[in-house]
Amino acid sequence: MSHATADFCFPIKVVIGHVIADFCFPIKVVIGHVINLLEKGVDYLFLPSVIDVPPQKGIRRSYICPYNQEIPHIIMSTIKPNVKILHPIIFFRNPHAAKHSLIRFGRTIGKSYRQIQHAINVAYKAQETFYQQVRRRGDEILRSIKDKALIIVGRPYNTCDRGANLDIPKILRERGQLVIPADFLPLDKYDVSDWPNMYWSYGYRILAAMRFIKDDERLFPVYLTNFGCGPDSFIHQYVRKELGGKPFLLIEVDEHSAPAGVITRCEA
Ligand code: SF4
Repeated sequence: MSHATADFCFPIKVVIGHVIADFCFPIKVVIGHVINLLEKGVDYLFLPSVIDVPPQKGIRRSYICPYNQEIPHIIMSTIKPNVKILHPIIFFRNPHAAKHSLIRFGRTIGKSYRQIQHAINVAYKAQETFYQQVRRRGDEILRSIKDKALIIVGRPYNTCDRGANLDIPKILRERGQLVIPADFLPLDKYDVSDWPNMYWSYGYRILAAMRFIKDDERLFPVYLTNFGCGPDSFIHQYVRKELGGKPFLLIEVDEHSAPAGVITRCEA
């Protein structure tokens, strides 16, 4: 495992020295994690190319952004690591496709069908248990809100990474705000397929979170995004319309963002 993003021991300019195009901040963070792993002397890099996830309500396909899909190739063309890279292509669109992708990959590393099937079952069970715990805790918190709460909306690799989100949830908590990650909301019940062609998985979840927030007068969104994020360049316009005038805070983060500026915006 690499270090936590917040604990990186090298400056982001080292990462920028490796990139040949101006990727969004999360991709630079991935490159940083790979450099960190190589410094630790690993023999293998596991860099899956995840193409899609189960479609949300009312839509047929739900895709992950192409930068994420292409992470193995971005790493191979930028850092050119001199270690073995495991880079399976994985489709999570339905259990059958996921199983097929994982069995094909498992066989390349010498695992039997039975071992792979067992690992898949254990992993799905662990993931479902995690989702249930998160939803249960979310329900408890929502029931307990007396005044108002801020919902952190974005992609989990931003909202749940203290290095990538500049510790914004902590900054807000220290100023007396109740802060809840959008992943704790029951978003699976929300159908936002009236936004046509929202085939981006996280885009759909962001809009579902905004609809949930709009319907609850106690909740206000803090929308975390990144400079250079292609999907968010239009999704944030949809967010504004979806909220129908409800105020929200939008914070764009990149490698030049500093805590002082973020604190000022949070306090404002
Ligand atoms: S969705 Fe946006 S932030 Fe995420 S990898 Fe794609 S461009 Fe970058």
